Amino acid sequence: MFALVDGNNFYVSCERVFRPALEGVPVVVLSNNDGCAIARSNEAKALGIQMGQPWHEIRHREASDGLVVVSANFALYGDMSDRMMSLAAGLGPSQEIYSIDESFIGLDGVRGDLKARALAVRSRILRWMGVPCCIGIGSTKTLAKFANHVAKSAERKPGSYPLQHAQVCDLSTLAWHQLEELLEATDVGEIWGIGPRLGKQLRKVGVATAADLARLDPATARARFSVVVERTVRELRGMACISLDDLSQPRQQITCTRSFGRPVQAYGPLVEAISEFASRAAEKLRAQSSHAGHVLVFIRTSPFRKEPQYSRSVTVALPRPCADTLAIVSTALSGLQAIYQPGYQLAKAGVMLMDLVAASHAQLDLGLEAPDGHRDKARLMQALDAVNSRWGRDTIKVGSAKIGSAPRGWTMKQQRRTPAYTTDWSQMPIARA
Ligand SMILES: [Mg+2]
Repeated sequence: MFALVDGNNFYVSCERVFRPALEGVPVVVLSNNDGCAIARSNEAKALGIQMGQPWHEIRHREASDGLVVVSANFALYGDMSDRMMSLAAGLGPSQEIYSIDESFIGLDGVRGDLKARALAVRSRILRWMGVPCCIGIGSTKTLAKFANHVAKSAERKPGSYPLQHAQVCDLSTLAWHQLEELLEATDVGEIWGIGPRLGKQLRKVGVATAADLARLDPATARARFSVVVERTVRELRGMACISLDDLSQPRQQITCTRSFGRPVQAYGPLVEAISEFASRAAEKLRAQSSHAGHVLVFIRTSPFRKEPQYSRSVTVALPRPCADTLAIVSTALSGLQAIYQPGYQLAKAGVMLMDLVAASHAQLDLGLEAPDGHRDKARLMQALDAVNSRWGRDTIKVGSAKIGSAPRGWTMKQQRRTPAYTTDWSQMPIARA
C-alpha cells in the first residue's frame, strides 16, 4: 500500500505562509530570470494563466485583476520542502521523495485506519508549516497518484468527484465498482505516466477515460503502445509493478536520497554519501538534457527512533546553471558542511536538483558568454557518462577528498524575490502583537 503526499500549489503556498495578504489573491511565481510562470495559485489558474506562460503576456493582469507576481525563492521552497518531507515521513516506514512537494510513503505494516492517519498528518503539516496538502492512498503507486488527483480535484472543483474524497482519498477501502466510477470520471491523460501526448493517441483508439485504460488487455497495451502503458494498466488494476525509488520519467526536480543501512554519525561517510548522491543526480540530469540552478542537501535522523532528533537542509545556488558533476558535487558538499552537526545518528540523507531548465535553453537564456572551459567540461561529462555506461557505474567517480569552497551566489535576475524567511537570521519575519 502506498500514499502520495503532495503540497497544493506548493511555491505559492510557501509564499502565503509569510505573506497572508496573498490568501485568496491570484499569485504567480516566476523563474528563469523572471521570464515565465512556474507556479500558480488556484485564482491565477482561474484567470486562465498557463504553466510556463511568459511574463510579458500576463503582465497586464496586475492592473486588471490584482495579480501578484513574485520571483522564485528556492532557498525558501527547499527549506519548506524539507520540513514537509520530514512530517510526511511520519505516515509510514519508507519514503521516496519524488519531487520538491511530493513524496510517496510505503505503508506496509501500518495498522489501523489509514484515512484517519493521513488526515492527522495532513493537519499536522498545515498546523506546523501552514502549507495545505492532499494525500492519496492506493495499492499501487499509480493508484496513489490517482487518489491524490481525486483528493485535489474534489476540493478545488466541486462536482468533479464526490466531496467525501476531498483532501484525503483512500482507494484501498473502495469496492471495484466504486473505484471504477472514479476512473470513469477521469480523462485518460490525467493518469500518471500517460500525459497529454500519449493521452491523445489513446483517445484515437477509443480509450478516453482512465476506466477504459484499466479495462485494456495488458498484452494489447504492450503490443499497440509500450511496456510503460502495459505497466500502467496493471497498476490501475491494483497489481503493483513500480516499487519505491524506481522510475524513469523526466522530472521537474531530480532527487537522489537514501536511508542508511545503519545510522551514520561521522562526517567522512556523509561526504562520500552526498558526493555519490550528487553524482547520481547529475547523471540523471544530463540524461534528460537539463541544467540545474540550485542544489538542496538534507540530512536527518529517523522519526521512528527514540533518540535526539536532527533534521536540516540547505539550498545552495550553483555558480551558474549546469549539469557538471564536479560543480554539483562541490556545491552539495558546501551545503553539507553548513548543516552537519556531530553527535546524531543520521538515518537518511539526500540531494535534490531544482530550478531545472532545458540545457539548450539555459545557455541561450543567460545572455552571457560561455566561460572558459565550459565546452571542455561538457565533453568531460560526456566522456564520464560514456565510460560509466560501458564499464559500469562508478568506474570513474569524483574523489571528494576535498570539500569545495562556498560557491559565489548566482546573480539571477530576481527582482521580486521574497526574503529567505526560514534560512537566514537577518531575514526572519518579525511578529508584533
Ligand atoms: Mg503539488
